[in-house]
Amino acid sequence: MSSDTMKPASADVLIVGAGPAGSAAAVWAARAGRAATVVDMAEFPRDKTCGDGLTPRAVLELQKLGIEDWLGEHPRTEGVHMHGWGTDRKIVWSRKGAFPFYGSAISRAEFDERIRQLALAAGTTMVTGTKAVDADVHDGRIVSVTLQRGDETWKISPQKVIVADGVRSGLGKVLGRQWHRDTVFGTAVRSYVRVEKEWDWLVTHFDMKNTEGETLPGYGWMFPLGNSGGNGELEHQGSPIINMGVAAFSTAQRPAKVQLRPLLDQYVAEMREQWGLVGEPMQVKSALLPLGGAVSNIAGRNWMLIGDAAGCVNPITGEGIDYALETGRFAAEALDVDDYTTMWPDLLNEKYGQMFSGSRRLAKIFFYPRVTATVARPIMHWEKGMRGAMRLMSNLVGENEHDDAATLARFAGNVSLKLDKRSRRPFH
Ligand SMILES: Cc1cc2nc3c(=O)[nH]c(=O)nc-3n(C[C@H](O)[C@H](O)[C@H](O)COP(=O)(O)OP(=O)(O)OC[C@H]3O[C@@H](n4cnc5c(N)ncnc54)[C@H](O)[C@@H]3O)c2cc1C
Repeated sequence: MSSDTMKPASADVLIVGAGPAGSAAAVWAARAGRAATVVDMAEFPRDKTCGDGLTPRAVLELQKLGIEDWLGEHPRTEGVHMHGWGTDRKIVWSRKGAFPFYGSAISRAEFDERIRQLALAAGTTMVTGTKAVDADVHDGRIVSVTLQRGDETWKISPQKVIVADGVRSGLGKVLGRQWHRDTVFGTAVRSYVRVEKEWDWLVTHFDMKNTEGETLPGYGWMFPLGNSGGNGELEHQGSPIINMGVAAFSTAQRPAKVQLRPLLDQYVAEMREQWGLVGEPMQVKSALLPLGGAVSNIAGRNWMLIGDAAGCVNPITGEGIDYALETGRFAAEALDVDDYTTMWPDLLNEKYGQMFSGSRRLAKIFFYPRVTATVARPIMHWEKGMRGAMRLMSNLVGENEHDDAATLARFAGNVSLKLDKRSRRPFH
């Protein structure tokens, strides 16, 4: 049935948002025999401002979803090629743990549509061009959600609601979600740039200077998309494409005083010769980059927030596609639970609490470029230390891993979690 004519009035499971979180939840719900209805205000395929990078953690989820073959048609990244503090280092993805040894990068227009198609194939009802604008809540339970398409509004009465409406989470706000901006967050700009030849690393630059020459708390990235890059509308003209962008860190008390577009232009100019950049940046878009685990009120009796809506974003790097896919699966696995009010934040704290709490503290160091340089310079020059640091920064520590780096990460995370007041736990 076409989205234009569908006006469902009830649903077993209502999922708001068809990004990676919502669509993954829909796939797993449908595979578990639940009738899921997904609504998204966009028409697909749609662009999403992102770096398009996929970590091995995301690859593992794609393997679980059964689409590794499709992934094989896209660039395969060996690891991260880091630059900064007077040197550069190629750090291969960790071979130690439970995660695959490769990552990738796929434009979000293509990526999100692939997961959405998987949800449709699994039997999900998909209603696009339709926004969730309000909810009636009684005694912690969502009774109905108001949907809007054009001038029309109507109510849908779901048994369960999974809220996957992204970083701004309009429906989450209606439900009382609060994002605490005293932890570090970022603002970022991304673009697509043609290159003479592609590479197979996620390239990052720390130690960036702003247009006045001062060191900036933030980083730049250049992720290879191969020949299927761009958001589907770009003319390749025979050249591969990269996703290129810069991010600047802020807190509410200390907002970054930086103009992102001039910073991007400067980054492009500095990289042009060495990396064979061709032409000007295309499809330049900026967005808020939340740096994880700083939201409260993420669940009620029959509803839960997942993905970006729940602040499930790596507190240091800002990547969140992997957590979106994972939390979509966790939510579907929890559909038979009666009450999510404490169960859901407890689960997210169990899965991510240590890492998010520890990394959130570490992210504050990035806020002070001189301190960062003092800490980072010796680590950048120490191969083993750098490999460990990258594994921790990318959260490539599996639940059952007990090697030195994993033990250290867990210990530090645990101490950090203990130092957090209850009201400042990563998820509550
Ligand atoms: C500049 C930038 C760079 C990034 N780079 C990376 C990266 O390289 N790798 C990585 O892993 N992560 C990256 N991230 C983070 C990543 O983009 C998010 O973590 C990811 O998109 C979260 O997925 P989601 O499904 O939770 O939300 P989204 O992908 O935002 O999807 C939310 C969906 O909900 C829909 N929606 C919103 N409100 C409503 C409503 N009221 N009713 C109906 N539908 C609604 C939207 O249309 C959208 O389709 C980056 C983010 C930014 C901003």
